[in-house]
Amino acid sequence: MDSLVELYKIGHGPSSSHTMGPAKACQYLKEHFPEATRFEITLYGSLALTGKGHLTDIIILNELGPNTKIVFDIKSKVKHPNTFIAKVFNDEKMIKQITFISLGGGSISIDSKVEESNKDIYPFHNFDEIKKYAYENNISLDKVVDRFENIDEYLKKVYFQMDKTITDGLTKDGVLPGKLQVKRKAKIIYSSLHEDDGHEKVIRLLSAYACSEENASGAIVVTSPTCGSSGVLASALYYYYHDKNTPIEKIIEALKVGGLIGNVIKHNASIAGAYAGCQSEIGSACSMAAASICFLEGGNIKQIEYASEIAMEHHLGLTCDPVEGMVQIPCIERNAVATLRAFDAAYLATILSSLSQVSFDTVVETMYQTGKDLKNAYKETSKGGLAKYFFHK
Ligand code: SF4
Repeated sequence: MDSLVELYKIGHGPSSSHTMGPAKACQYLKEHFPEATRFEITLYGSLALTGKGHLTDIIILNELGPNTKIVFDIKSKVKHPNTFIAKVFNDEKMIKQITFISLGGGSISIDSKVEESNKDIYPFHNFDEIKKYAYENNISLDKVVDRFENIDEYLKKVYFQMDKTITDGLTKDGVLPGKLQVKRKAKIIYSSLHEDDGHEKVIRLLSAYACSEENASGAIVVTSPTCGSSGVLASALYYYYHDKNTPIEKIIEALKVGGLIGNVIKHNASIAGAYAGCQSEIGSACSMAAASICFLEGGNIKQIEYASEIAMEHHLGLTCDPVEGMVQIPCIERNAVATLRAFDAAYLATILSSLSQVSFDTVVETMYQTGKDLKNAYKETSKGGLAKYFFHK
């Protein structure tokens, strides 16, 4: 399994696979072909169908310059839905053609090779192996991370970027970019709080934090595990840091625990909505947050595993159907709902862990199989579900 640096990436939203991945590919092209005078980029599959709504073309032009031709090929069939081909030209001569795949979470493969940096830091293949290692060494899950990488400073940066993204989002009014004219809601929810709201106050706080409107507007976010689902873990941690006065050291430990869960999913299934539907983005984010919350509430390894399992289990089959190809409807509210569900999963797990019958590894495998069985229309194409219904109104 890879370093957590590969899971928690800091960059521009709204989509790790549609903006961060292509941006990284463009940086690769600039670095390796300084002699290039122009580029031609052909986007396929989900990138072609929802690239405009996800700002893929804007990112490519920003990176490679206006002398770049972008083709949205919605007809050709490709093996991976996030494939794009770059042709590099020096004057009229094509000097190189490269096939990139945006794997989700901002990772890419280059001519079928996955980037080598930070690969295989951890000798584990699933959660059972992580759990066994922790038990054998009598250590908690965050300490498992410490055994394989020294990542505290990076995770501190990660948390404070999450914190800044949420704080910025709570102060903004107006509508989000794009023709849906979606009104920003985080500030409205946050301003509606009353001291005597009781339990409802927590729900409102978490929903405001998780709104993810900053992501939708292309601001800087942290993939956790993706941009589209970046509000879930971030808002849970923000709540602990600001409203429960949890020290930053503990928040970093929680990021490690949630990171191991995200890594298991990334390694054994997928975190790309274009590959396995929204269950792989929001479901994964919910599992990561549930693990972190359970850890912060003093849960043991068995309870943390159960919390993550519950969180994923009840997202199985969740489709990706972004209206107009933008990461706004249903994505923004979906982050808020998943955050609340993560808390429910964590609390349920602390009560019921002795009755757990499904392992986390099993639910991850089930998610992957379900994702493979989903029709393509429900995998970030905007051709099915809510997106289709909306188009027909
Ligand atoms: S529906 Fe889910 S997977 Fe699809 S773009 Fe929105 S957040 Fe991402």
